[in-house]
Amino acid sequence: MIIPEESFSKFLKALKFASVKHKDQKRKGACPPPYINHPIEVMQVLWEHGAVRDTNILMGALLHDTIEDTATSQQEIEQLFGKEVLQIVKEVTNPKYLSRQAVKQKQIDDAPHKSPEAKQLKLADLICNIQDVSKRCPPLHWSINRRLEYLDWANKVATGLKGCNTRLEQMFEQKLQEGRTYLQVSH
Ligand code: ZN
Repeated sequence: MIIPEESFSKFLKALKFASVKHKDQKRKGACPPPYINHPIEVMQVLWEHGAVRDTNILMGALLHDTIEDTATSQQEIEQLFGKEVLQIVKEVTNPKYLSRQAVKQKQIDDAPHKSPEAKQLKLADLICNIQDVSKRCPPLHWSINRRLEYLDWANKVATGLKGCNTRLEQMFEQKLQEGRTYLQVSH
């Protein structure tokens, strides 16, 4: 299969942009990987496991944490990648003015009302995060209980994201079970 030249150029541009924006950040955890690994993995989950071929969703995956976690403006995303990509990124960006608890509740409440594009991206994001929190790279000082609570919370958000991509829903279910089993059995 030959990848259309224009699409590939867009991906490279988004990948480079995200890697520059996240360059000083690491993921949370005992042996934190560079932050950029995360958006790349989210895109990979969408492409490989979700069979997503929508360029805007895949670019949105690479850029999904730039506005929330780095000095990136909405205008930058819109100018470089277009209105549609900005819309998807905005839908998965949490407001900074709310407390951590309020943000968690808001994600549960908002999930069913998101666009199908943002729902798929959010689901892929959760698939990556529950694997990190349960076994791959848990945040430092999180107890087993806190990690199990995170999985419960992620499951509530994922319930609101149903109906947009069966493959991703199945993968989420599987990774959730694996994570719970790992935390409950091996500790
Ligand atoms: Zn993310």
